[in-house]
Amino acid sequence: MSTITFPSQQIGDYTVTAISDGYLTASLEFLSNIDPADAARIQNDAGVKEPSSVHINCYVVRGGGRTVLIDGGAGGIKQWGDRLRTNLPLVGIDPFEIDTILLTHAHPDHVGGLMDASGEIGFPNAELVAHQREVAFWQDDGNLSRANERARGNFLIARRVFAGYRAKLRTFESGDVLPGISAMPFPGHTDGHTGYRVESNDQSLLVWGDIVHFPHIQIAYPEVSIAFDQAPAVAAATRSKILDLVSSEKLLIAGMHLGELGFARIKRRDSGYGILYES
Ligand SMILES: [Zn+2]
Ligand SMILES: [Zn+2]
Repeated sequence: MSTITFPSQQIGDYTVTAISDGYLTASLEFLSNIDPADAARIQNDAGVKEPSSVHINCYVVRGGGRTVLIDGGAGGIKQWGDRLRTNLPLVGIDPFEIDTILLTHAHPDHVGGLMDASGEIGFPNAELVAHQREVAFWQDDGNLSRANERARGNFLIARRVFAGYRAKLRTFESGDVLPGISAMPFPGHTDGHTGYRVESNDQSLLVWGDIVHFPHIQIAYPEVSIAFDQAPAVAAATRSKILDLVSSEKLLIAGMHLGELGFARIKRRDSGYGILYES
């Protein structure tokens, strides 16, 4: 049997593992404040072979008697991802062992994998934890009626997931969501877009959700937003603020679209920032 190792970091008492769900594709034309040709050149210079592929990571946090999944990947929706279900067993995790799912937000590439192919919940023993505003946004019929066709599909997917987990859905507004894990609001990408800070024994990690989709482009040029951002200017301001914070604190970061290596630190440059992957 072949062995696959996934990137892993020890944060005090917690082991955090980045588990790939595979890829989605998003045209560089979806980016704003940058010429697509310049964006393609940055991807090329960074050695990215498929310039419009976006990698999807999920994270598992183990420790303190818990097994926590942060986001569930795309689960094959729009033919994206769907590797989580086969990759989880490779790190020795049975879906029944997951006791908590923390959601950064409810876009299809983060919740699609929370349901199985037959439409049942994929993690029957897990409590689903999400920001109150995120749940409220997708449940609101006014928001649904104002959505375009692509976004309308996203509402239906999010609603199916919230309905599936309704008996074990917990919402929060701020602060600690689990012992050692606190929520940070990252406005702009979606209404309740949230980062999670894991802290234990003076070590910490920030899982920043969808602060970037194209790390090489958007970390160098934080003003570059993507069509998936609900409020692009707010998302760009949040990105700049978080990049400033994590580079000054030299904080270890994780992100759902950071790339297969899963963990990195951010370094301030003369203009913009650079990404240094941790191995
Ligand atoms: Zn998203
Ligand atoms: Zn995403």
